[in-house]
Amino acid sequence: MPRQYPIEKIRNIGIIAHIDAGKTTTTERVLFYTGITHKIGDIDEGTTVMDWMEQERERGITITSAAITCFWTPLGLPKNKENEYRFNIIDTPGHIDFTAEVQRSLRVLDGAVVVFDGVAGVEPQSETVWRQADKFKVPRICFINKLDRMGADFEKSLESIWQKLTQGAVAMQIPIGLEGEHKGVIDLLAMKAIKFEGDFGQIVKEEEIPQDLLAKAKEWREKMVEKIAGEDEQLTEKFLSGKEINIDDLKRVLRKAVLEYRLVPVFCGSSLKNKGVQPVLDAVVYYLPNPLDLPPVKGQDPRTGESLERKADDKEPFSALAFKIATDPYVGALTFFRVYSGTLLRGSYVLNTATGEKERISRILRMHANEREEVEELYAGDIAATVGLKSTGTGHTLCDEAHPIVLEKISFPEPVISIKIEPKTKADQERMGLSLKRLSEEDPTFKIKSDLETGETLIAGMGELHLEILVDRLKREFKVEANVGRPQVAYKETIKQEAEAEGKYIRQSGGRGQYGHVWLRVVPKNRGEGFEFIDEVKGGTIPHEFIPAVEKGIKESLDKGVVAGYPIVDMSATLYDGSYHEVDSSEVAFKIAGSMALQAAVKKAKPILLEPIMKIEVVIPEEFFGDTIGDLSARRGKIEQTSDRINMKVIDAKVPLSEMFGYATVLRSMTEGRGTFTMEFDKYEEVPGNIAQEIIEGKRR
Ligand code: GDP
Repeated sequence: MPRQYPIEKIRNIGIIAHIDAGKTTTTERVLFYTGITHKIGDIDEGTTVMDWMEQERERGITITSAAITCFWTPLGLPKNKENEYRFNIIDTPGHIDFTAEVQRSLRVLDGAVVVFDGVAGVEPQSETVWRQADKFKVPRICFINKLDRMGADFEKSLESIWQKLTQGAVAMQIPIGLEGEHKGVIDLLAMKAIKFEGDFGQIVKEEEIPQDLLAKAKEWREKMVEKIAGEDEQLTEKFLSGKEINIDDLKRVLRKAVLEYRLVPVFCGSSLKNKGVQPVLDAVVYYLPNPLDLPPVKGQDPRTGESLERKADDKEPFSALAFKIATDPYVGALTFFRVYSGTLLRGSYVLNTATGEKERISRILRMHANEREEVEELYAGDIAATVGLKSTGTGHTLCDEAHPIVLEKISFPEPVISIKIEPKTKADQERMGLSLKRLSEEDPTFKIKSDLETGETLIAGMGELHLEILVDRLKREFKVEANVGRPQVAYKETIKQEAEAEGKYIRQSGGRGQYGHVWLRVVPKNRGEGFEFIDEVKGGTIPHEFIPAVEKGIKESLDKGVVAGYPIVDMSATLYDGSYHEVDSSEVAFKIAGSMALQAAVKKAKPILLEPIMKIEVVIPEEFFGDTIGDLSARRGKIEQTSDRINMKVIDAKVPLSEMFGYATVLRSMTEGRGTFTMEFDKYEEVPGNIAQEIIEGKRR
């Protein structure tokens, strides 16, 4: 069967937001509106829609799927196949502990709708996600939600976007009324009032702009036109000479500016009160990219390392990226993937270039809000799931065996916290290992380690809550009961200066001896740059075949640390000299020499401990401001900024993770239950001397 939707009609989008901004509610509304237009067609009779909604409720709208397909026909166009667009909505997790998941989904989507709380405006986590979207070059539109809430302020929210995120934000609408009076929006392009009627706001009506808002709407339209026209020479001329610019020209120039990350159109409304969601869907069609608007995806030939490109074309060799493994109660493990190029037929074999193994695609599933659709083939630019893959993990490339490619790797932050985990019974023990493995395949920021000395299992992740949720899933989904220990901070070690040292492993007592001898230079690297091994041996002072052994010895030593047993990071080690013995030299001898040299060099290079620093935002009523600040300072917190938000004080601070354990409870009791906070990993920093001493001693005790 040929392609049903031209690639130009596909939109792969994500809805991203700070927790509580209304992502879930907005997604629910999107699925509802797209559901009625697609299924029932042009029905605007309240009761029918109500029945449909009831049925949907009973079946449960699935908005937790990693990718959901739905269909949208822009407002004002006749509803037929010609005008219908296919949206794949990729789920982006809201909680800050899962920024890796957010990154992973940003990698596969083409455009995003960023939802803001119209009372709070830009919150710290929205800023983080925004920067990530910048990094992954995702064009965006904004939706200022919750305008029905007490204290909602469209202009202030927009201003916070200008201040904190981008000057390129351009208001395409202004609200009609706020708080209890919020009735709809004014479309500044068409200069019409848009009202949403019916029990679910499903009937969209265009009206004349109310008299009392006309002057304001004109003023805002002027700002909008000026900003858009500024992106195009001809339009700029027209604007300056006071000529009318037609709507199609504005839309065309705006689309181009959005795709080039210069402008971000801003819409508004209230998902809960069913206001303003449909125009956002129109904006997805008009301003966000289709897969052809994007540059070809880049990758490498796994055999030669040569750079390759794949265009979003059905005729190119097949390439796809697995971006999420999810456990589905009905079909088992689902692997969600995005096709970047080529065509995939059900029943065919593909190559996983991460493992080198072939996988059979026995089924292709498209997830809709309320059903799973089996499809026979999939084309470039599309997103779907498959089942029964054996060795495919998150971030792996699947491709045509004859044209292998590794698509750009996704890099994830290293875990900052770990806990000991112990199965409760013998039966739990058997299942625990496998279950943990499954969970870590789903989530690359979740790691399992076993302590070789004590035989204990440690699990590591991005925060206390992250691990709590995983332990809870272990219990609920995998029926494994486990006891967990106290959370431990994932400290690291590094060096502050350059140093050189020698490692000699020579044993010559009768028979065949051992001979390994190396000189190493260690040099500090910037935070987050990791470790690098450099081979500068000249003239064969150490034979070629022993160099990998030296590197191996160094790496083993890095893991064990020098100061307090934590892994050493952010440093390079250069092997620049040494010697060997014709008979006695061996890989083992050079490995030990490498390890000895590394330890000696690090000890000379002012080794220090590093600790994870968290970025936190605390929101409290005014009367607790002093106490909260005092408490944060006692936790070695650095206050970055304080501000006001309707009867509340907001504190932005950076605090070492080790001081934040149990903070939720402390904050609650300190503020009579009214304070809230969010926290995310920021960076690693040097541990102050006296505290480092305590850590070292605590470790030794
Ligand atoms: P998420 O955490 O971003 O997924 O947010 P939810 O959609 O779960 O919404 C968080 C809370 O805000 C819920 O109690 C919603 O009912 C409420 N909410 C969402 N949208 C609106 C809105 O437009 N107006 C008001 N007043 N509340 C909303």
